[in-house]
Amino acid sequence: MPADQLRRTRIQDLLTSTDLNREVLVKGWVRTRRGNKYVQFIALNDGSGLATLQVVADAEKFPEESLKEVTTGSCVAVRGLLVPSQGKGQAVEVQASSIEVLGTADPEAYPLQKKATSLEHLREIAHLRPRTNTFGAVLRIRHALAFAVHDYFNRHGFYYVHTPIITGSDAEGAGQMFRVTTLPPEHPPRTEDGSVDFSEDFFGKQTNLTVSGQLEGELAAMALGQVYTFGPTFRAENSNTARHLAEFWMIEPEMAFYDLQDNMDLAEDFLQSLVRYALEHCAADLQFLNDTYDKELLERLRSITDNAFQRLTYTEAVEILKSAKKKFEFPVDWGTDLQSEHERYLVEKHFKKPVILTNYPKEIKAFYMKLDEDGRTVRAMDVLFPGIGEIIGGSQREEDLGKLEGRMAEMHVPTDELWWYLDTRRFGTAPHSGFGLGFERLVLFVTGMTNIRDVIPFPRFPKNAEF
Ligand code: ATP
Ligand code: MN
Repeated sequence: MPADQLRRTRIQDLLTSTDLNREVLVKGWVRTRRGNKYVQFIALNDGSGLATLQVVADAEKFPEESLKEVTTGSCVAVRGLLVPSQGKGQAVEVQASSIEVLGTADPEAYPLQKKATSLEHLREIAHLRPRTNTFGAVLRIRHALAFAVHDYFNRHGFYYVHTPIITGSDAEGAGQMFRVTTLPPEHPPRTEDGSVDFSEDFFGKQTNLTVSGQLEGELAAMALGQVYTFGPTFRAENSNTARHLAEFWMIEPEMAFYDLQDNMDLAEDFLQSLVRYALEHCAADLQFLNDTYDKELLERLRSITDNAFQRLTYTEAVEILKSAKKKFEFPVDWGTDLQSEHERYLVEKHFKKPVILTNYPKEIKAFYMKLDEDGRTVRAMDVLFPGIGEIIGGSQREEDLGKLEGRMAEMHVPTDELWWYLDTRRFGTAPHSGFGLGFERLVLFVTGMTNIRDVIPFPRFPKNAEF
């Protein structure tokens, strides 16, 4: 085949190829170039995998001068022969016949030189960090997990529904919301009493970015049976923690005819399947993260797939925490919300496996959760993971119109705004359940990274919306 017609091959495909001694074309970014006056070695990466391809450039064909723009960070197209490697560390290499520089990278200015760079510093150059081994691995794993989510639900008869991102209700109260408006901030129209006149706004009312797709998800479940959403959610809470983002992705399945037990069974099987998928499909990237950051990562992931989760009630958990020897920063008493330190004690110290806590006091949970017979607790479930704390929050939903309206009144949730939600309880109501899995918390767990800002390409958090 004439060289001009050669199609580019992904490096990942070349590295696993057994079809050797053929002409290939590769394109990628130079990680390093080293060598001597006889031969130069270029480590090339195109993002298709963690491993780099070794390109060998003989000095006879490529005098040092001709390679001066082939520096770390530059982008090149290489043609050459794919041959068994003479050196250690790789099975194959490319004996270059031509090297074209597609884009130079001034070595004085390029921020990702060979020397190790801290994760904190990389956050400030988030536009370039995907080119590092760490972020390449994280982003490939993130992709695999997103794919596994859709694959799981598709195989189990769930339909993917797209719930709105702009919402007219602040119903769930899951957190502070970001307002969406086209009114001029300096001179908004005013009503007679001087307050901002939102009837003049784009939608004719106040609107916000969604904090959850659940309520609309429930509407779809009451028609399609089993559905899920997987979309961006926004919370303007000022939580400057390693587990909170202002913009994150949430997976929310909602199932007609599921009770709390069914809901727990689904959550457990779903999480185990996702972790198993990553172990099977992201072996090289996970091994790299295991070796580089967290020697127990792979073991921890396998412990998720191999062990049943511990299930207990909130009330039982409070008893355990109260008799624990450990001194907690926040005291525990029946009725208080559990803090991350309590959740992690249960998971990491007491049970040493994932925990599903159920039947929380109604006062600390949302209005739509089904009331238990005792009238004090609701059919809530939180799934707690090692190193993370809460990874899933869910519940069986209150399907009884009267009880639901009662809970809304108690909790000052406006029923008129949610007339459409209440209609599902008016027309053909049914027992149903669902949960929300924070996608970045899942990626955080699977990658073993310790800060949620390092598992999304461009994190949004208080005082940061760069890139
Ligand atoms: P937390 O108590 O950890 O703040 P939450 O109880 O407010 O979480 P839910 O409203 O139950 O969270 O949301 C469902 C899931 O979404 C959580 O279990 C978690 O995995 C994820 N999640 C919630 N808030 C955030 C956030 N700010 N950033 C990233 N993920 C989040
Ligand atoms: Mn929750």
